[in-house]
Amino acid sequence: MRLKYVPEARELISSHPNLIIDKQDDEIIDLIKLFQNNNLIHIEIGMGKGQFVYELAKENPTINYIGIEKFDSAIVRALEKVIENPLDNLILLRVDAEKLATILGQKKIDRIYLNFSDPWPKVRHAKRRLTHHNFLHMYQFILRDNATIEFKTDNEDLFDFTIEEMTDFPMNILFSTRNLHQENVENIMTEFEEKFSNEGKNIYKVIAQFKEEV
Ligand code: SAH
Repeated sequence: MRLKYVPEARELISSHPNLIIDKQDDEIIDLIKLFQNNNLIHIEIGMGKGQFVYELAKENPTINYIGIEKFDSAIVRALEKVIENPLDNLILLRVDAEKLATILGQKKIDRIYLNFSDPWPKVRHAKRRLTHHNFLHMYQFILRDNATIEFKTDNEDLFDFTIEEMTDFPMNILFSTRNLHQENVENIMTEFEEKFSNEGKNIYKVIAQFKEEV
């Protein structure tokens, strides 16, 4: 079913190069040229259909956002939103997170959001989890000092794994909750979050920061 849609998605993606970067090569992206300013840059990795990053970008016009997703079928939904209502501070990037160190370079990013990342429950797939320590090393490389990672999930096992990976790294845990919707904190819901909380599931969240190098 999904495959049928791909040629149309490809066409839509390739006809809007000012709204979406369809990254095929390994060349570094000039972020200042891209946004034409020096503002902070926050990224969401695995944004899916993009509701969260779109709302965030609309609320915070002085921060630049990059919504990153590897699948055409999901990112094309986000693209439809920005075609309808473009935001100067939001660019979509179709690429696998594996490539981010190469194409973003060192210490250019101020925050990473990871929302409802694929849990990869089998132990032999642990390296694919976006909070595996191999990914944390990459995040440390692309993030500026004192930047934060904000992670939300409905999956308790992935949450526990993430806290362990972050603590062992070592990172400082600045905030964590096993029931986000009971906390008195600002929150923008993602598509998955709406779905899972409607099903009565708890939403877990952690905010963490790399320890300063000595
Ligand atoms: N953040 C959205 C979607 C969550 S589903 C929400 O909360 O509603 C997880 C998404 O991450 C999927 O769309 C999947 O394609 C994407 N993803 C998983 N691994 C990725 C990777 N290595 N690089 C880029 N995107 C990835």
